[in-house]
Amino acid sequence: MSGEEVTGAGNEALTRRWQDVMMDNFGTPRLPLVRGRGTRVWDAEGNEYLDFVGGIAVNALGHAHPAVVRAVSEQAASLGHVSNLFVAEPPVRLAERLLGLAGRPGRVYFSNSGAEANEAAFKIGRLTGRTHMVSAAGGFHGRTMGALALTGQPVKQVPFRPLPGEVSHVPYGDVEALRAAVTPRTALLVLEPLQGENGVVVPPPGYLRAAREITAATGTLLVLDEIQTGVGRTGHWFAAQAEGVEADVVTLAKGLGGGLPVGATLAFGASARLLTPGTHGSTFSGNPVVCAAALAVLDTIEREGVLDHVRRAGRRLRRGLESTGLQLVREVRGAGLLLGVVLEGPHAAGVQRAAEDRGLLVNAVAPDVVRLAPPLTVSDREVDVFLDGFAAALSEALEDGRRAA
Ligand SMILES: *Cc1c(COP(=O)(O)O)cnc(C)c1O
Repeated sequence: MSGEEVTGAGNEALTRRWQDVMMDNFGTPRLPLVRGRGTRVWDAEGNEYLDFVGGIAVNALGHAHPAVVRAVSEQAASLGHVSNLFVAEPPVRLAERLLGLAGRPGRVYFSNSGAEANEAAFKIGRLTGRTHMVSAAGGFHGRTMGALALTGQPVKQVPFRPLPGEVSHVPYGDVEALRAAVTPRTALLVLEPLQGENGVVVPPPGYLRAAREITAATGTLLVLDEIQTGVGRTGHWFAAQAEGVEADVVTLAKGLGGGLPVGATLAFGASARLLTPGTHGSTFSGNPVVCAAALAVLDTIEREGVLDHVRRAGRRLRRGLESTGLQLVREVRGAGLLLGVVLEGPHAAGVQRAAEDRGLLVNAVAPDVVRLAPPLTVSDREVDVFLDGFAAALSEALEDGRRAA
């Protein structure tokens, strides 16, 4: 006798309903979640999990953070949407705030997602009058056609060829390859400060700085895709600030809205003036509600010293993972609270399952890499609880792997 059967909202029933009506582009998700608070979430049958996926590096302040709830409620209750035919204050304040964090004058275009933030960068690149672009193999810049052309992952591109643009993909982290590919014909070079979707791949020190020098010499725009690494994820407002690198264009999304959909394209110098009336737009661009949420995220990060906390908590998590002493872990890489646990062999899906059985949500981002991207506000105690359970999940996956071998 269960209420779930009547309402059809238990884990299995919800999943079946999902399969009946949703397009199958995502495959079937493994678990319905119905509620969250901070770092914790609950499934449709009341089971509790520690969330180290964070909506894929989106839930910067965790779930249901009071500052976000308040900002969204108040904005929705006063002025929900005006379109770009009218000025609203929240997007103006958010743009001022983001440029302040960047530490230099520029201009901002708001959108609704990461892919759209990069589409705007793509168009800015085209408006230089050049058509050639360079990005990195394995890089991820989104799934819409322009962003997909920049995404250096053939499996995602092949069904949609021909893609717009004239894009060269170079090996990530290879300065000589950049030097050879970027020429005075190149409109833009787009790079992630570290490759998130490709398995949390960190480039060699000095790579971004070299990219800056190479693009400056050819008059090419350097676009840094900080959609995953920005807004405090690595312990800095922008990951590239750790290296002192200033791009011409910076794209943001994921963590920016604290769970609400908002993307931003920040442009500096001459590139800030390339979009002119009629060249680009979106109905929801600068929507006051999502901008209010983003302002609440930025204010909270600043007020509560979250950047320092991310660096400390990231070190604690990383050291804990490194000291599990398990044969299965080859390496832990990443920055701040964006970490990739690289396994000896393709065991990530098994580890994800074993972790979930222990009430821990993690993401098998590559066959041999488990990505961790908990809320930036994750507590030391939550990190410790996670480490205990994750070590057990690793042991179990290792056992399973041995049995299967
Ligand atoms: C997630 C991501 C994107 C795409 O963002 P969407 O909101 O999914 O369109 C682009 N670039 C990077 C680096 C990302 O991590």
